[in-house]
Amino acid sequence: MGMSQHILTAVAWPYANGPRHIGHVSGFGVPSDVFSRYQRMAGNKVLMVSGTDEHGTPIQVQADKEGVTARQLADRYNRVIAEDLTGLGLSYDLFTRTTTKNHYSVAQEIFLGLYKNGYVFPKTTMGAVSPSTGRTLPDRYIEGTCPICGYDGARGDQCDNCGNQLDPIDLINPRSRINGETPAFVETEHFMLDLPAFAEALGTYLQSKQGEWRPNVLKFSLNLLGDLQPRAITRDLDWGVPIPLEGWSDRSDKRLYVWFDAVVGYLSASVEWARRSGDPDAWRQWWQNPDARGYYFMGKDNIVFHAEIWPAMLMGYNGEGARGGVPGSLGKLALPSEVVSSEFLTMEGKKFSSSRQVVIYVRDFLERYSADALRYYIAVAGPENQDTDFTWSEFVNRNNGELVAAWGNLVNRSISMAARNFGAIPEAVHLTDADRALLERSRAAFTAVGGELQRSRFKNAVTEAFDVVRDANKYLAEQEPWKIKDDPERQGSILHVALQIVDDVKTLLTPFVPSSSNKIFEMLGGEGVWSGMPEIREVDEDGGPSYPIITGDYDGAAKWEHRPIKAGVPLAPPTPLFAKLDNKIVDEELARLEP
Ligand SMILES: [Zn+2]
Repeated sequence: MGMSQHILTAVAWPYANGPRHIGHVSGFGVPSDVFSRYQRMAGNKVLMVSGTDEHGTPIQVQADKEGVTARQLADRYNRVIAEDLTGLGLSYDLFTRTTTKNHYSVAQEIFLGLYKNGYVFPKTTMGAVSPSTGRTLPDRYIEGTCPICGYDGARGDQCDNCGNQLDPIDLINPRSRINGETPAFVETEHFMLDLPAFAEALGTYLQSKQGEWRPNVLKFSLNLLGDLQPRAITRDLDWGVPIPLEGWSDRSDKRLYVWFDAVVGYLSASVEWARRSGDPDAWRQWWQNPDARGYYFMGKDNIVFHAEIWPAMLMGYNGEGARGGVPGSLGKLALPSEVVSSEFLTMEGKKFSSSRQVVIYVRDFLERYSADALRYYIAVAGPENQDTDFTWSEFVNRNNGELVAAWGNLVNRSISMAARNFGAIPEAVHLTDADRALLERSRAAFTAVGGELQRSRFKNAVTEAFDVVRDANKYLAEQEPWKIKDDPERQGSILHVALQIVDDVKTLLTPFVPSSSNKIFEMLGGEGVWSGMPEIREVDEDGGPSYPIITGDYDGAAKWEHRPIKAGVPLAPPTPLFAKLDNKIVDEELARLEP
């Protein structure tokens, strides 16, 4: 293991317009937590931050529909989402929100830094309004045909088919998604981010990531470079962060564009975390230390913001684009080291959709099944490299075949046999070649599985850990310790080896299934906390209204290393780690999907 490094885990900010479904958390949630838990175990100093993204028109539109304020709607879903993510055991150092004063001031500081360095300029553009209401029609609520690829479901701000950024006026046959009418376009003044001024710097930056980033992410980002356009960073809207310039800051109808303030959240959350930790400058260790690394986790529809626009914003703030400049008052800030993007999860062959009931909410899932069962499924069968379909039958098969029959059974029979025959971890008096081979196999897995986790190859990592489980089960089947009646030394040695493998594999699986690994740690006599779990705390700013944050103490005993178990540690009969699922739940769950 090398020297301890500062690792920023920057997790995509969920939009506060509803509870999270398992499609959301398979993209940004579980992978970022597996990565962070591994990095902490490997001895690194992790800062894992995120929060709810609460501004923008969709929240305003939904609030109008429900007869509440945008703030009330954001308050509701900030809390719901914090509970969803805590239920999954996601180990955020800080999960906050974009409606804090701290976030407003950091987002405004980044805007001002860009403005002072000449990377932000005003422009009169044509904005869409609804002819029937006279109100601004937000980009996301305009749909039409993409002028670049011809896709007929392009949104006003982006085409999800070709990934290009768009302006609503460019759409062919634009229509309002709210009522189908054709929008009218009127003059409006906005600020633009001069993305073309970063073309060269972004090209150099992206080229330096060859061989490091997932190839699909790098290829997609490099392709976008060919057609960089200035991008609007303000909107006609009253819900959002005010524009920090004279003549603008007091206007109620102009705000920073929601994507602009949301990507700044990684930085503002780090600043908030530092303040809450009692050392207001502590965030600089992750943002200004040349040895620190920043890993950004998201779904593939967000690559453009994290591999291109956010790096450009940081370069502009640092004074590193074509116009030069000087770093803003926070000092020079670090660009993402790696952008880890997931593909999409579909649901029984269909796209997840809350409105069409093709959805499994995290909270509903956790009422019926364990967090570890879902975390394991996402790691082994999630959309890491390609779009992937969630099916209930595969969920049941993997839960019963892999977690219960392979892993849970290895733990259960090893501990129960040793508890029954010895009452404690037996001694390994004499090791055979077969014993040694399995022990070496298991120790070698720390390097192999750790290497995969370091590169965010979660599927390979969990599969290699399970190969050890399979080998251990094969070993027990061959050694048959249950048949040995008159040789307690040999029986004890076999069970010692089996328990050592159980201890090793519980460590290897900790990033994936931390709750069950915590139980095994206790079953084998461990004291204190193995791998810490997140909790919700109520906080406020300067005595203002309270809100929930996710945080936790994750400095448990878990280290990424083989630890020799100690003979003589008392053992009690184990309790089951995982629940076997009846096949009839497949039909029950499918019935819930199509009411
Ligand atoms: Zn397109």
